[in-house]
Amino acid sequence: MPNFSLPDDVFVRAAKEFPTPFYLYDEAGIRNTARALNAAFAWAPHFREYFAVKALPNPRILEIFKQEGCGADCSSECELLLAEKTGFSGDEIMFSANAMPPAEFDHARRLNAIVNLDDISDIDLLANHGGISEEICVRFNPGGDFKLGNAIMGSPGDSKYGWTREQLPVGLKRLREMGAKRFALHAFLASNTTDPSYYPGLAGILFELGAALEKEVGMPLSFVNLSGGVGIPYKPDGVPADIAAVGEGVRKAYEKVFGDPAKATVGIKTELGRYMTGPHGWLVTKAVHEKKIHKDYIGVDACASNLMRPAMYGAYHHIHVCGKRDWPETETYDVTGCLCENNDKFAVDRKLPKVEMGDLLVIHDAGAHGFAMGYQYNGRLRSAEILYTQDDTFRMIRRAETPEDYFATLL
Ligand SMILES: *Cc1c(COP(=O)(O)O)cnc(C)c1O
Repeated sequence: MPNFSLPDDVFVRAAKEFPTPFYLYDEAGIRNTARALNAAFAWAPHFREYFAVKALPNPRILEIFKQEGCGADCSSECELLLAEKTGFSGDEIMFSANAMPPAEFDHARRLNAIVNLDDISDIDLLANHGGISEEICVRFNPGGDFKLGNAIMGSPGDSKYGWTREQLPVGLKRLREMGAKRFALHAFLASNTTDPSYYPGLAGILFELGAALEKEVGMPLSFVNLSGGVGIPYKPDGVPADIAAVGEGVRKAYEKVFGDPAKATVGIKTELGRYMTGPHGWLVTKAVHEKKIHKDYIGVDACASNLMRPAMYGAYHHIHVCGKRDWPETETYDVTGCLCENNDKFAVDRKLPKVEMGDLLVIHDAGAHGFAMGYQYNGRLRSAEILYTQDDTFRMIRRAETPEDYFATLL
């Protein structure tokens, strides 16, 4: 089943209040997901989800996560500013950048954020930009392929992130000599997976590695950061990740290495983005053009500048026509935007009911890495973002860009 968590009436009412295209986010859905995640890890010492700000960088959304007890995972100056302006501070902020301007370390340390070092060379950068903190996280890259059973989940050997196994004890000993008192481990080895064995598999690796490094280095492991990667089913026949089962799987891995979580001290952190907001955001657009040549095309008033994933990754996003959910899918369309780029297609050869001009087309699962990856190619502007609140009202949480915004940086 596609994700039909909101009735069409909501999209129709929103489109009466705001011109299309716009993003619509469901506050209740986001809160429920945060609560389900917190419940799944309630057993874990010092559990905290740090919402990956890059997935949906809007302070009104970050506020919701703050109220649900989450922190913010940042990787740039502006993301740190967003977290700061939302009221996050200290260990509510994780800073996980790579190849970034060193001044961003100063900023992170000023906020007392937890710093996650992407490379052994970052030790000196941090020492010179804000100083070594007592608690320090490092990112691990095991190389090769990352397998669960027979399935290859990712190829860390080709990934730019993290430290090798050999670098870890060398760098951690240096960090200890420079004043660190506790270390933490982070790794991100598979992206967008709904397989409930991903986090438990990753956790097992990091727990054992952490326990070994405690002995090699003589510093206690304070937490393991499982990062992001738990995915969502973009296709209608996909199955959502069972987050309770994921939490239970991680608990089993934890008990194996550290024993009873009620008596152990090693904490668990996550940095989920897609899983938290992906299903709770929709790009709402209007059919404005129909064209029949070698194929049938429906042109809509949104384009790849609003949602890049189909053009960039060939990603599937479910689309439904408002008011026609139960109509037979008699047509086969390419649903396109207006960019002068032939990859500007939200769907290719998609079965849909007959579309009339003015119909609202709702593009699903756009709540993470959607608006955030927007751009201004072809002089197309970013849309508004609307929050559908728990009180059944609509709140504009970002206005649409205007030509003035487009010209504002030109000299
Ligand atoms: C992108 C990213 C995340 C979030 O990834 P999702 O796939 O959205 O869960 C978490 N941590 C880091 C360091 C990232 O770069």
